[in-house]
Amino acid sequence: MKALVPETRMNTLVDGFGRKHTYLRISVTDKCNLRCFYCMPLEGIVWKRREELLDFEEIVRVADIFVRKGIDKIRLTGGEPLMRRDLHLLVEMLSKLEGLNTIAMTTNATLLAENAQRLKDAGITQLNISIDSFKQDRFQTLTGRDDLQRVMRGIEEAQRVGFSQIKLNVVAIAGVNEDEIIDFVDYVKDTRMNVRFIEFMPFRDNDWNVERVLTYAEMLKMIGEKFQLVPIETEPSAVAKDFSIVGHSGTVSFITSMSESFCSTCNRIRLTADGSIKSCLFYPAEVSLRDRIRAGATDADIEEMIMYSLGQKPEAHPPAEEIAAEHNRSMIEIGG
Ligand code: SAM
Ligand code: SF4
Repeated sequence: MKALVPETRMNTLVDGFGRKHTYLRISVTDKCNLRCFYCMPLEGIVWKRREELLDFEEIVRVADIFVRKGIDKIRLTGGEPLMRRDLHLLVEMLSKLEGLNTIAMTTNATLLAENAQRLKDAGITQLNISIDSFKQDRFQTLTGRDDLQRVMRGIEEAQRVGFSQIKLNVVAIAGVNEDEIIDFVDYVKDTRMNVRFIEFMPFRDNDWNVERVLTYAEMLKMIGEKFQLVPIETEPSAVAKDFSIVGHSGTVSFITSMSESFCSTCNRIRLTADGSIKSCLFYPAEVSLRDRIRAGATDADIEEMIMYSLGQKPEAHPPAEEIAAEHNRSMIEIGG
């Protein structure tokens, strides 16, 4: 299937601050079957029509150009990626790209039980599953749906079919689920899973305020009172701070987007479901490829647009309060 990146391949996805980009996050749909308050604006969003989204051939064409320029990891996200029909076919197409080493997916797992095997067979190598509570009523309040049991079945099936790298994404919100932080660490104890606590980030109309951010330092203290954490060395561009836990096979990580930004080593770039490149999650600027592709853009034209977008990437994102007031897309429309 995938060949390793040839030694000689140059990474040309370098921005104005010298950062090399190796990681492309592709949103395959803006639709979702959950309504997590921190992601989806309360008033809802206007779903894109089918023809407004890139089709699989268009996604693979853009991905191929990115991979030839140095991307070696792709993550499929959304909205809920499994809301996109026949997603496994897209995975199969992407898995043929030479130089791509990793195809990951982030999912809410409501549709995972019935899809886990074929996604694995198609070439997904890493799975991130979002779950913020083990309590049925709280899960429903957070997500707007009574789907906790389906998510739990999805997690079980993903383990059963043998995904070796399963990460549980937990958005940690003060006053919402801080009393379950220890439960999550306990849950991965005898598994090979990693639980990742993500600091609550501000997006359009998502009820964010600074008091609701449960910080890395606060969580570390909470967990440290019960478990012995040992830091794990990671590569410089990794956004997570990883720890093993004495006596556990599972591990724990923290995504410190709010308390310690990782802009200086950012290696990520995003393609939205409607075909725009976003060089920074928190920066509204985008470059739309879709209409130019449909008007007959050559690969060289697309490369030029990609490089233009990278040239606009800011050195760092603005402070959180400014982000909250910006006219950026909501998280569900970007793809986390
Ligand atoms: N629907 C899929 C899911 O929930 O896993 C994929 C898309 S979702 C936008 C990707 C990730 O972003 C999820 O883990 C979600 O918890 C996280 N996320 C969404 N809004 C967030 C916010 N305001 N702060 C921190 N993480 C957020
Ligand atoms: Fe949907 Fe994922 Fe956003 Fe929740 S976090 S609303 S599951 S896209």
